[in-house]
Amino acid sequence: MKHIIFITTGGTIASADSEEGLVPALTSEELLKYLHVDEREVCIHCEDLMKIDSSNMQPEEWCIIAKRMRDLIKEADGIVLTHGTDTMAYTASALSFMLYNIPIPVIITGSQLPLLHPLSDGVDNLRLAFEAVLSGIQGVYVAFNRKLILGTRAVKVRTMGFDAFESVNQDPVGIVDAHGLRLRKDLLLHADGEFHPEIELCKDVILLKLTPGMNPDIFDMLAHMQYRGIVVEAFGAGGINFIRRDLIAKLQMVVDAGISVVVCSQCLYEYSNLSIYQPGQKALQQGVIQGYDMTSEACVTKLMWALRDHHDQKEVREIFQRNYVHEINIPE
Ligand code: ASP
Repeated sequence: MKHIIFITTGGTIASADSEEGLVPALTSEELLKYLHVDEREVCIHCEDLMKIDSSNMQPEEWCIIAKRMRDLIKEADGIVLTHGTDTMAYTASALSFMLYNIPIPVIITGSQLPLLHPLSDGVDNLRLAFEAVLSGIQGVYVAFNRKLILGTRAVKVRTMGFDAFESVNQDPVGIVDAHGLRLRKDLLLHADGEFHPEIELCKDVILLKLTPGMNPDIFDMLAHMQYRGIVVEAFGAGGINFIRRDLIAKLQMVVDAGISVVVCSQCLYEYSNLSIYQPGQKALQQGVIQGYDMTSEACVTKLMWALRDHHDQKEVREIFQRNYVHEINIPE
């Protein structure tokens, strides 16, 4: 019989109305009642780890979740985690790095409408999460609206629709249709070494979306605030302005100050490549690191993870040149 750990953290799926709007209320035992699990086939251990709206989920909470999972791994064949949708993609990505090479499935799910609502999408999402966790795959995934998505490829793209998550720059690893859950074996994660969880993160990482006319002094401010990592969402394939307001000079200043800078695109789909245009080449000369086709969520959490042990810029660059959990496609 399989042993599954069911951990709740709050979010809409567990929420009920209050005078201040929706707040997480249901326990893991209460959520489980909606599933009608056959207890002769699977043994589920319930755990209420947090009861928060996921906008309050931060690196400290990711570490609590990852540590709990690390401690539970010996007694579990898989873990289902319920979580608010707002920051689910960040948590999925952070756990993917912290729990790199985890030999069991960790399936994260939630819903757009509370389980208490008769039309909730939560029952379907929970069912998919349990189906996926029982399939014996390895690694961290998001289960939502009949899709199973790699933890580092999930992005929340809708505030209201049930199809809230997309698998960005890689097909979903599984979809549900008339055959049931169909998994793409070629896209699944496989633990390829020992499981040595690295449950530390550097919190001094910021994501900066460029806008035309941005005051370059923002970079002085970030250096002054002692950020150790900056992810820049550049224009298109990696555009950064240097006429009138010279952001390239500022990049040089922050890199010289020891800050690691990763540049990705503010376009959701496809990849950035700084070597294509002059502004990008100028940025590369200042020592920035390329994010290529990574999601912004994956860039931020990978940078937090890469900086955990006070790695120097060379080590951080090496970490970004390696694909750990299918988070990046590096061009030849
Ligand atoms: N505000 C909620 C949360 O992220 C939204 C949701 O779960 O859908 O916790």
